[in-house]
Amino acid sequence: MKDIPRIIGEYDSGNKGTLLFITAGIHGNEPSGIIALEKIFNILQKEKPPIQGKMVGVSGNREALQKGVRYIDEDLNRVWTEENVSSGKEDSHEKREMFEIISVLEKYPETDFTKRYFLDCHTTSAASEPYISVQVVNDNDEWAHKFPAYIVRGFSDIVEGCIDHYESRIGITGFVFEGGQHESRISRLNHEGMIWLAIHHACGLNLKDLPKYPEAAIMIEDKRKKRKTFEIEYRYGLKEDDEFKMEPHFSNFQKIKTGELLAHKNGNPVYSTWDDYIFMPLYQSQGNDGFFVVKEMKEP
Ligand SMILES: [Zn+2]
Repeated sequence: MKDIPRIIGEYDSGNKGTLLFITAGIHGNEPSGIIALEKIFNILQKEKPPIQGKMVGVSGNREALQKGVRYIDEDLNRVWTEENVSSGKEDSHEKREMFEIISVLEKYPETDFTKRYFLDCHTTSAASEPYISVQVVNDNDEWAHKFPAYIVRGFSDIVEGCIDHYESRIGITGFVFEGGQHESRISRLNHEGMIWLAIHHACGLNLKDLPKYPEAAIMIEDKRKKRKTFEIEYRYGLKEDDEFKMEPHFSNFQKIKTGELLAHKNGNPVYSTWDDYIFMPLYQSQGNDGFFVVKEMKEP
């Protein structure tokens, strides 16, 4: 990828209101959200529709994006711990990127806006329905339920140092959006659709004010009827030297039944003891999560 500026774009129409702070490419091998943002800023700057407040698009791991790798020294989505942020230490490439992003965010202080929202755009290695991953703190969950995609609660609580934790910690409302598989065109459209909806819900953009109603927004909005809310029920963890092989046919959010063969670990079969849904089945050679089980919750 070409060198991506830190600020991909900024848009307002001179009205006071909310801030919508969108990050993409926190993982350098996930450029999908960046491309979606570039496209959306082009349209906004050309058509100049009225919005309340300001929308900002920010790139994540710039050097990793340019090199097309996930990260340089360490995962940029694991460094945002309270300890790292308060230490101010820039002893890895990703910590330098983190402090740059923090200083960009500091240009848009809480006092300048009626409320601040964030959206962090990602993609997954395996094919998946697009989904929202929400940390259930502040009013994040309520906000997430304005959107039509599947919602997974509690996943981000399993991992530490994610950018959305940091943003939630400083009082910004938002969630992570996983648009689909890294290279897929559909992921890019899913990002576009979600970003349009986020500008609508956060900054009051009327999508009908655009000369052409964005098709990507229609496409994602169409998922609303089938939306489900899930909570992490179980994590099938792996040890360093475990030999793990998932049965071949599972995809994200596929229904599983008690007694169903899910995988083999060290040559032994792993059967389901759940009548729920499988989440993030491991099909890569590396990782210490074999799979997760998620449970469908009542819609709020
Ligand atoms: Zn990612």
